[in-house]
Amino acid sequence: MKNQTAHMNNQSLGRTLRLVMQTQRITKPDIAVQLGVSLPTASQNVRLLMEHGLLAYDGTAESTGGRKAQTVVPVPEARVALGLDITANQVRGVLVNLQGAELASFTHTLAFSNTDGYFAELSEKTQMFLQSNRIEKARLLGTGISIPGVLSADGRMLVRSHVLQVEHLPTAAFFDHLWGACAICNDAKAAAIAELWQWNDLGTAAYLSLSESVGGALVIDNRIYEGAHCRGGEFGHMTLVPDGRRCYCGQYGCLDAYCNATVLAGQAESLAAFFGALEEGEPACVRVWHRYAEHLAMAINSIVTMLDCPVILGGLVGAQMSRNLLQELLQRVQERATFEIQENQLLLCRHRHNTAAVGGALQLVHSFLQTGYQTLFETERVTNSRRL
Ligand SMILES: [Zn+2]
Repeated sequence: MKNQTAHMNNQSLGRTLRLVMQTQRITKPDIAVQLGVSLPTASQNVRLLMEHGLLAYDGTAESTGGRKAQTVVPVPEARVALGLDITANQVRGVLVNLQGAELASFTHTLAFSNTDGYFAELSEKTQMFLQSNRIEKARLLGTGISIPGVLSADGRMLVRSHVLQVEHLPTAAFFDHLWGACAICNDAKAAAIAELWQWNDLGTAAYLSLSESVGGALVIDNRIYEGAHCRGGEFGHMTLVPDGRRCYCGQYGCLDAYCNATVLAGQAESLAAFFGALEEGEPACVRVWHRYAEHLAMAINSIVTMLDCPVILGGLVGAQMSRNLLQELLQRVQERATFEIQENQLLLCRHRHNTAAVGGALQLVHSFLQTGYQTLFETERVTNSRRL
């Protein structure tokens, strides 16, 4: 009974915290109404959350007469999380607050190798970054890593990474060199987490990450679908062309071989230069784009036919694609489709910079807002239950 009461209190605290984070400004009576709790409960929750620096008062709300209700606002910087995007040749780091906003970032050239030297440099660089941003350990929720590879279901093993050229690497190799709690996920899934954060209620969607490699994630009811072996949503290795181009995975004809960002960027100095030249109608770029878009349309049609949900184009290509190109791509998909495809079934990503690193960090923010905040109140909970 005592545990049940404590559990309910904790749940109500969490709902209060999330509601204030979501609404940005709200009065205690409105919290009580929206959460269906009594005003004393809402007030007590706000007081407890304020004691831990997570909420504050901000002036007064519009009054309809009588005593003015004080407005409660979140303190997003009360806790921060570090996100690291590990790639073959560099590390990108970001600091995000409890609302998912990016506060600072760094990019450091560092070729991955499974050596003490690599992990020592990774540790040193991240500590310098945290110190230069005056982040003390108590404020840091931890470090969330995005990695190009397949992880075990419990996150303890990097099963395989073609990009980093490692197999069966215990993720403790990273965790042991970083501050605080650690989380790790596949890079395309990390990008999908950052994208999910941009939507109030995305529901079900397929996220296609079109970067140096093609990855993806399947979002079902606002949650990432992992699959039996954490390989759910690996759209990049769907066979698109029987016995077609060689894919880096060793197979032939995978979507990746036709639609990774290098297919476009290889035609110009950079991906941005490619899209610039395409806009100006440069014939070679137009030809390459047509082939690229044709293959991408085939893949999108297959995904939509299977899942009947929106497809979000993300990664480096999704971040640079214009509305006109999206429209043109949609027409290609519609021409191939058996069933009618609506305009809102093909979307461009909303999160466009440092996406995988931000998604890495958001793993920790999400878990803090869902249940992690409870650790702050553990002492209090024990005291309360004794009192009860
Ligand atoms: Zn492949």
